Amino acid sequence: MSFSALGLSPAVLLAASKKSYITPTPVQAEVIPAVLWGEDILAQAQTGSGKTAAYVLPLLHLMTTGSSKALILVPTRELAVQVGEEIKGLLAALGKMTRPIKLATVFGGVAINPQMMLLRGGADVLVATPGRLLDLIDKNAVRPEFFNTLVLDEADRLLDMGFAAEINRILALLPAKRQSLFFSATFPEDVNALATGILNMPTRVMI
Ligand code: AMP
Repeated sequence: MSFSALGLSPAVLLAASKKSYITPTPVQAEVIPAVLWGEDILAQAQTGSGKTAAYVLPLLHLMTTGSSKALILVPTRELAVQVGEEIKGLLAALGKMTRPIKLATVFGGVAINPQMMLLRGGADVLVATPGRLLDLIDKNAVRPEFFNTLVLDEADRLLDMGFAAEINRILALLPAKRQSLFFSATFPEDVNALATGILNMPTRVMI
């Protein structure tokens, strides 16, 4: 199995190969084609499974071939930075092959003003922790209605960290018609209930 069988655009394929992504991991092989088809995703994926690239590569395809904008919710500053770095590397590898894609990574515990500056003119892909995202929305620095793709990464940890109310507030501000991708390492009852409320007939990927 190679990445070229999954339906990604030549530019995204080249960016992946520049990053030495040669063979898709199992979660990538299942998630990437389904995202490109416009499906919602419910995926069980651990750290180290390649879950980040499983959603980032098809999202970059959709952003560079159309006008989609993605919001990626993560539980911690560490994961926000890690996901942001992975996207930054792929955007650098894309270079001038596509229209420019603007990435912003925001999280709490640091000054909000530089993040507000960064968000001027909007972002095509926003990686955010829930509390800081709501603060930025309240300050009109983020317009949630423009994000037609939502990713919940490490959904179980989002709930463990007590973000249920924040997530529900964010969900209410997003377009009802959107594509949603849900990744979690574990599926206790509260995580299943959250997934059911968010996803529309998802493709299930249990590796
Ligand atoms: P993740 O599970 O998303 O945290 O990714 C784990 C690590 O694997 C990251 O350092 C990625 O850069 C790397 N990675 C992801 N997909 C692939 C792939 N298909 N081939 C090689 N490395 C990969």
